[in-house]
Amino acid sequence: MPRELLSYILVVIMAGALSLFLCLFTQLKIKDAPGAKPYILVTLLSSIFTFSYAFELSSTSLEQIIFWLRVEYLALPFIPVFLLLMCIEYVGHRINKVWKYALFIIPFINDLHHFYYKSMGLRSDSPFPIIKLVGGPWFYVHSLFLFLCVMLSIIILLKQVKKSSFRFRMQISMMVAGLIIPILADYYYINGLSSYGIDLGPVSMSITFIFHGAALLTFQMFNVAPIARETVFESMKEGVIVLNQQGLIVDYNHGMRKVIPMLDEHSIGKSITSVLNGNHHLREIIDLKQDSDFNCSLNGNMVHYHIGFSPVFNKSNLPIGQIITFADVTERVLMLEKLKQLASLDGLTQILNRTFFIKKSEMIFDLLSLEGGSVSVIMFDIDHFKNVNDTFGHEAGDAVITLVANTAKEHIREGDLLGRYGGEEFIICLPNTALPSAYELADIIREKVSENIALVNEEKISVTCSFGVTHALIEAGDRVHSIKTSMRRADQALYAAKKNGRNCVQIIA
Ligand code: GH3
Ligand code: MG
Ligand code: MG
Repeated sequence: MPRELLSYILVVIMAGALSLFLCLFTQLKIKDAPGAKPYILVTLLSSIFTFSYAFELSSTSLEQIIFWLRVEYLALPFIPVFLLLMCIEYVGHRINKVWKYALFIIPFINDLHHFYYKSMGLRSDSPFPIIKLVGGPWFYVHSLFLFLCVMLSIIILLKQVKKSSFRFRMQISMMVAGLIIPILADYYYINGLSSYGIDLGPVSMSITFIFHGAALLTFQMFNVAPIARETVFESMKEGVIVLNQQGLIVDYNHGMRKVIPMLDEHSIGKSITSVLNGNHHLREIIDLKQDSDFNCSLNGNMVHYHIGFSPVFNKSNLPIGQIITFADVTERVLMLEKLKQLASLDGLTQILNRTFFIKKSEMIFDLLSLEGGSVSVIMFDIDHFKNVNDTFGHEAGDAVITLVANTAKEHIREGDLLGRYGGEEFIICLPNTALPSAYELADIIREKVSENIALVNEEKISVTCSFGVTHALIEAGDRVHSIKTSMRRADQALYAAKKNGRNCVQIIA
């Protein structure tokens, strides 16, 4: 056998072995990844094709050559179809069944008829037996079909490049480079540019598979394919933005555009600081790189986000960037606010309950102890309330309690605290309020309560209240005063008001 032919056969055998290796590797390691199944078939068919071609080249008679040629053409027509299906699956598209089956029509016809070549014979000008084939009409149909399938695969992959991050771009570029090779080889073969008319297809396929092998092993083609990125990354409820070490935007998902509407495809490669130019608060958070909470208004609604930072390291453990996630925690925040409100308010009157009133008042007293200031406290109680319950029933009593609470609520200022201290007893804390003003407020509430009439079951009920008022002047650093001491004194004043005939205001300064 001539050396030239022998070395060519060796190259072809290596091509077959490589595609068989990739077939087995994909089957054993990543068979469930998107695009992997058609890829397993592509590599299997091309190894059948390539090995048959090696047999064809080593054949010594036309009959043997024709036999191996038939085997080759059992496998070859299906390769571009599976290649196309692999690319479609890889980028996460779906193809409907009718189209899928339609793609197999031409390869099947190719297998069934005998019009592929007009004539077959051995070349007389080659130093070893090489078949001379004259293509029939189906030969050109097949070539065009192969060309279209591969071109379509390339277009599908290139369309994905634009949407992908660096890693996928490298994967896809390698896959595209691999696909261009057979097109070039086909071009040379069809135009009679290869020496002795040797079919360059099998060798070109080995180069294709070298590219695919590199994409498979180095960039984990299929392993984290764009489909996973598309479906997981894009459909994530959280907004995610990926920055490199220089703060340049590498990638972001759809959810992120809700938070930063300025983000668009041109933002990739720009610095996050320039994109967030108008949003100083968010810029500060991202500069600090510390998990934090962030609020912003979206279509008039306040949205609460929890921003998380995760550094990204390369294989040598060097930081190469960070992933910033924006988790929408609005529901949780609103729920917490609601729970806090429920825990702080009295169910009947919707004013502060006793515990929460004391807690909030303590905070006011603490602040006054630091800075100095004055505070007044009013305590009031409905007069002869027992009679209301006894005469009109408990329900009517509840309505009266609510009416009294609402009357007081209407007259306090923002920053004052109103609480339900007991059954029909109320308390007001008035920060930075002098005694005369507190007395005045108490007397207004007293007057209004006495004027109001509760209408329950067509019964008109009117009540009066007695008030005790006290006041504390707190100097900075003074820790003697507390809400407890003021409450005790206000209670004493209230007791005095009751003794004094009720429906009046008494002061203990
Ligand atoms: P005084 O003028 O001395 O305050 O007389 P009073 O009848 O109001 O005195 P007391 O404090 O002894 O009575 C309060 C009554 O309020 C007793 C209790 O049954 C009633 N009460 C306490 N909480 C509620 C409530 O939530 N709803 C109703 N309807 N009644 C309540
Ligand atoms: Mg009472
Ligand atoms: Mg009472």
